Amino acid sequence: MSSVEFNEMRVLVIDDHAFVRHTIGRMLSALGVREVVDSADGVEAMIRLKDDPDPFDVIFCDLQLPGRDGIEILRDLSQLGSSAGIVLISGEDESVLKAARNLATEQGLRVLGSLSKPIGADQVKAVMERVKEERSDTVHGPQLSIEADDLRRAIDQREIYPHFQPKVRLATHELESVEALARWNHPQHGHVSPGVFIPLAEEHGLIDALTNVMLEQAVKQCDEWRESGLNIQLAVNLSVDSLGRLDLPEYISGVAERFGIETSQMVLEVTESRISDNPTALLDITTRLRLKRFELSIDDFGTGYSSLQQLQRLPFTELKIDGAFVTGASQDATARSILESSIDLAQRLGMKIVVEGVETRADWDLVKSLGCDLAQGYFIARPMPGDELEAWLEAWERQVPPA
Ligand code: C2E
Ligand code: CA
Ligand code: CA
Repeated sequence: MSSVEFNEMRVLVIDDHAFVRHTIGRMLSALGVREVVDSADGVEAMIRLKDDPDPFDVIFCDLQLPGRDGIEILRDLSQLGSSAGIVLISGEDESVLKAARNLATEQGLRVLGSLSKPIGADQVKAVMERVKEERSDTVHGPQLSIEADDLRRAIDQREIYPHFQPKVRLATHELESVEALARWNHPQHGHVSPGVFIPLAEEHGLIDALTNVMLEQAVKQCDEWRESGLNIQLAVNLSVDSLGRLDLPEYISGVAERFGIETSQMVLEVTESRISDNPTALLDITTRLRLKRFELSIDDFGTGYSSLQQLQRLPFTELKIDGAFVTGASQDATARSILESSIDLAQRLGMKIVVEGVETRADWDLVKSLGCDLAQGYFIARPMPGDELEAWLEAWERQVPPA
């Protein structure tokens, strides 16, 4: 896809310090940006934004401003429905900048990044490069035209199928299990993200059908591995919507039995953010799943608001800490504290600890030193078709240096 070039872009810089405005302006001109407009005052900037019909591609905005501060400007931009890329500038401490970024994202703004003072040319270049990347991503985005009927057909015709991502034991590097992740190769649109079609399935009552086709294909693959001598656990994702279905324990154990897979060899992952949706039915089903010896995992832990009390009353066996607190955690004090306290909590509750989003050696070393059990992430392997797993495993066993 054609990316948008700097020489086609208009950029607005809002900062009350003339020196900062000029510095950023100079750096943007050096990158070849078509037009840089600047403003020293929040009120004036907003008047300009409301009047100017030609929208800005990128807005650099200081948080500390006379007139209207940066947070108020973000609120205004969100109300205007601005699609500009936003770059926050601040001399405040890191936690203020981070809160402002989160706020902007929650208000539906497109945040490209933040700059802390003193501002360097490489910082400016890095955020501007991100505009280009994001632009070419959105040009790709065909998802908008995907409809429930399309998905229904795709489920029936097995256009939805699993890829598998390894979870390995940190202490020994051994492959312990794989997680099945749904993939959809759409005949017109190509690859559609599960982030798009899973919510669509939930909304249109198709999630049980989707869970069924995923389960059957994944369990079948697991049986094939077992026949070739590879005995690993299989993790599948369950929507909380399916956990309202009272025959679920019988259905899953039926599939497992059909392929000769032990129920204790299966891990059912449920996203934390929704475990409080239907507390009584959830307690009923999860308890019966445990009676049938399935393992139960709380997925994306840290992104929801489950209380300790909820965690304690549901019979989960595994805590899967969200990648947001793992990727780059060695460089990020806040992420690291959340990671450490989640690990501590899981250990106290006697749960197995899995971390996702292990992308680098540094992530791996950190989670290993903190005593996690299993790791998953691009550092180990990306999700892959089932028939590639054995070749990956051979390479992994050869290559990974024991720590
Ligand atoms: P999830 O269960 O949290 O799965 C992990 C996601 O993180 C996957 O995205 C995976 O490809 C990605 N990932 C793995 N390692 C890394 C890493 O090191 N860095 C980063 N940045 N990402 C990594 P994917 O496959 O796009 O799936 C997105 C979500 O869709 C899943 O999140 C899960 O909630 C949902 N999903 C996928 N398949 C199914 C399914 O069969 N049923 C249901 N109910 N939900 C599914
Ligand atoms: Ca998962
Ligand atoms: Ca997750």
